[in-house]
Amino acid sequence: TEEKSLHFIEQIIEDSLSNGFPQDKLRFRFPPEPNGYLHIGHAKSICLNFGLGLKYNAPVNLRFDDTNPAKEEQEYVDAIKEDLKWLGFNWTEELYSSDYFQQLYEWALAMIKNGKAYIDSQSSEDMAIQKGTPTQPGVDGPYRNRSIEENLTLFEGMKKGDFPEGSHVLRAKIDMASKNMLMRDPLMYRILHRHHHRTGNDWNIYPMYDYAHGESDYIEQISHSICTLEFVMHRELYNWFLDQIYDDSKVRPHQYEFARLNLNYTVMSKRKLLQLVQENIVNGWDDPRMPTISGLRRRGYTANSIRKFCDIIGVAKRENIIDFSLLEFCLREDLNKKAPRVMAVLDPIKMVITNYPEDKEEWLEAENNQEDESAGFRKVPFSRELYIEREDFLEEAPAKFFRLSLGREVRLKNAYIIKGESVVKDAAGTITEIHVTYDEDSRSGSGSEASQRKVAGTLHWVSIQHALEAEVRLYDRLFIDEAPDSHKEKNFLEFMNPSSLQIVKGFVEPSLATVQSDEKFQFQRLGYFNVDKDTTEDKIVFNKTVGLKDAWEE
Ligand code: ATP
Ligand code: MG
Ligand code: MG
Repeated sequence: TEEKSLHFIEQIIEDSLSNGFPQDKLRFRFPPEPNGYLHIGHAKSICLNFGLGLKYNAPVNLRFDDTNPAKEEQEYVDAIKEDLKWLGFNWTEELYSSDYFQQLYEWALAMIKNGKAYIDSQSSEDMAIQKGTPTQPGVDGPYRNRSIEENLTLFEGMKKGDFPEGSHVLRAKIDMASKNMLMRDPLMYRILHRHHHRTGNDWNIYPMYDYAHGESDYIEQISHSICTLEFVMHRELYNWFLDQIYDDSKVRPHQYEFARLNLNYTVMSKRKLLQLVQENIVNGWDDPRMPTISGLRRRGYTANSIRKFCDIIGVAKRENIIDFSLLEFCLREDLNKKAPRVMAVLDPIKMVITNYPEDKEEWLEAENNQEDESAGFRKVPFSRELYIEREDFLEEAPAKFFRLSLGREVRLKNAYIIKGESVVKDAAGTITEIHVTYDEDSRSGSGSEASQRKVAGTLHWVSIQHALEAEVRLYDRLFIDEAPDSHKEKNFLEFMNPSSLQIVKGFVEPSLATVQSDEKFQFQRLGYFNVDKDTTEDKIVFNKTVGLKDAWEE
């Protein structure tokens, strides 16, 4: 709703609309390769493409770019669809590059017949040598001038499965001396005797990305084909392939490039994320430490916060690195409005209120969310023996310690003012119990004079006899380096944070007895926590989503 200036792709679209391009011909796509789960980088591309669809009321296809059966699986297709829906986007059509294999094959045949493609039968090493370098032109290989008949016969044999992998390839016949290395007779097809997750064993040849992508855009009549900056040099080839098939009664797709999302303290290459999964360095693609959409979701991120983040970082043409804390900022803003407040103690120490009757219990009124009036109130049980956080007490405290110490008063949230009286220690000198007294007239909300008294601070607590045990998983960054995959001499795995996961036994108030997977709470004074999918009838598991403040600020 805020007034925002147009980003450069919107500007390009506005320009073509004002030059007469019909708005009803606008069409976009999001084209994931189903070789891994979506990550936060993909979210940027998703928000961009689907955002344009919403803005211009135009279709947005979900196109699976499934041209490499060696790496692709149905599991990934399913996960990508689930994540997209969760992010809140609806695609117009669900399409697959593999649906176009026959059409792509026929276009390749036509290119052979037009002298625009040929079969090369050299080793990939020999082809690489002939390709030259950025400063040195390439040279023609020995098969470049094969006859059209021979090319057609060999291509037919490749398709039928007559030849082993690596024995022949189909190449576009462009220019071995082109300034653009990608134009030096790029590969169009290779032989792969692989089972494809959709076409089974129908094909023994598979098209290369550069050939398949633009032609698929053309088949779908995508007007604006948006990709990341690494593809700038590919644009010339994208256009060359389109030139071979373009019919000017149709929409001609154009490729535009924007800067990919880079985030610090993480990796976003699917190959590296797969390695973390396969080597059990994390517990699956949806491990809450992963930058995947499913990992962020399990951690407790909201779709809203991810969309907001993509909105704030914007769309530009220059690469930069975004600070992870910006993503956390967007999350806190959202959770602050939505997450009910509850009390939990994660590092408990026993506290006894010596002047509170042993057999008494009270159910005190507690506000669920002061940021949301409609959230209402709940009851929390209070009794003589409570847990508080160990770090909330010091026997002898400096003046600025706004928590409990001997001889000082604090308020227990939603309850009474208490005063530290004495401690019980074990043989080693560790405090095992804190003894306090309470002021019976000071109950929160009672309106009494005693309840208005100023005290050092307010602590959260749980009643020991009523508290529920919970497993709480505390997370830190997965990597200790800002750019783990930027080191030439070191593998990114050398920068894993050995203490990125800590599991503690905590105690939570009994209102949490029936929580469901994915419910979100603010544990007062501790942070935001999400109910993990490992939660069962007899075990509650929470993930720490994020702290209340930016712990990395200093
Ligand atoms: P990888 O190189 O790790 O395999 P990819 O970019 O090849 O990732 P795709 O499945 O091909 O993964 O990506 C689908 C779309 O998402 C592409 O249009 C791609 O440009 C975009 N995308 C991928 N990573 C990012 C990123 N970090 N920031 C923005 N867009 C991205
Ligand atoms: Mg890829
Ligand atoms: Mg890609």
